[in-house]
Amino acid sequence: MEMLDALLHITLGLLLLRIVMSIITGILINKKMQQIQKNNASILEILYDQKVIQRNEAMNDEIVRDDYCGKMIEKRKAYIVSSGDHKNYFCSWECREKFIKETG
Ligand SMILES: [Zn+2]
Repeated sequence: MEMLDALLHITLGLLLLRIVMSIITGILINKKMQQIQKNNASILEILYDQKVIQRNEAMNDEIVRDDYCGKMIEKRKAYIVSSGDHKNYFCSWECREKFIKETG
């Protein structure tokens, strides 16, 4: 009978230990998960920011008409002649030069 008692105690002890261990690992995993979620949130924020920036850049990618040959060109790649507030855009240096020659 004493043997059985001892065995029961050991078994109960081990069971208790397992419960405690699982609680501890549970807490640790929870903490890790929270950290991961936080990281994910900041990654999402960064991704969102980049998207917004990209969208703004895309909006700046305006298409303008070459005032000499009439070709449609990206504004940021255009050659520009500005007279006062008005700006003329050109697809190439040649178009720009010809435009200046013709308009004086
Ligand atoms: Zn042109």
